[in-house]
Amino acid sequence: MFGYKRHVPDLSSPSYPDIRLSTLSGFAWPDGKSCGVTIGWHVDGEAGPIGWDRGAVEHMTAISEAAYGITTAMPRILALHRDLEVPATFFVPAHVGERHPAMIDAILADGHEIAHHGYMHENLFGMPAEDQQAVFEHATAVLERLTGRTPRGWSAPGWGVDARTLEVMAALGFTYDASLMEHDTPHLVETARGSLIELPTSMVLDDWALFGGSLYPAGSAVTAPAEDARRIWLEEFTGLRRYGGLFHTTFHPNLMGRPGRLLMLEQLLTEMRACDDVWWGTCEAAADHALTFAASGQS
Ligand SMILES: [Zn+2]
Repeated sequence: MFGYKRHVPDLSSPSYPDIRLSTLSGFAWPDGKSCGVTIGWHVDGEAGPIGWDRGAVEHMTAISEAAYGITTAMPRILALHRDLEVPATFFVPAHVGERHPAMIDAILADGHEIAHHGYMHENLFGMPAEDQQAVFEHATAVLERLTGRTPRGWSAPGWGVDARTLEVMAALGFTYDASLMEHDTPHLVETARGSLIELPTSMVLDDWALFGGSLYPAGSAVTAPAEDARRIWLEEFTGLRRYGGLFHTTFHPNLMGRPGRLLMLEQLLTEMRACDDVWWGTCEAAADHALTFAASGQS
């Protein structure tokens, strides 16, 4: 029999982090376009399971499933982007770049952006600021060595972000974050240590919600028909065109690069490409547009 445990309510007002999200008044997309599309990929690879638990490195099923996204899926994902002339931003944990340097070269050869996604896909929420900074600096150094460029943006592994994360990124000179979910359009994140452009994302456009799963330490998976995803994402695209927002995706190559789902994505992107009122670009280009808009004193 369950005993009743008295729960004392805390009626004090909580103290929110000192972070300010400010929309850009009158924000508009370039050339009078109705909305923006940035196709973001989280190329977690082996860093997904290993970042969660180092012991996963010996789990052959989990590691092979993670590697599927890199070795099997990425070549056809890049071919799809090439065929449809769709720019993309690949958020790559630096360890995955170290392990698969040819993939990095292939992404860059096609003109796409490579952005920061931790070293081993660290979830930074609650981590001391100096440790967060160490993760950012180490992974940046590795990506600079592999790509010859400094990554300008980051998206949060496991959606783990706290005020320290945003402060550290601003202090290190990052241009943008792509993790927060309050607004529809690119906006400003102001911290005590500087500001960033925020490219808002949403769980609606995260394939993990429909197709995600893990194999380590025990198997679990969610799987929906690809057609469900196509319908949800097309609905969201239609809504964002109407309201002028950013359609920013979080796709994982090991999930979305499965053959059936990639055919669905080809169909979806083809439908979206047929709309001539849409701005397409990398996250970097979207952030630069927002920066220019903010600097011009808005409208
Ligand atoms: Zn990730």
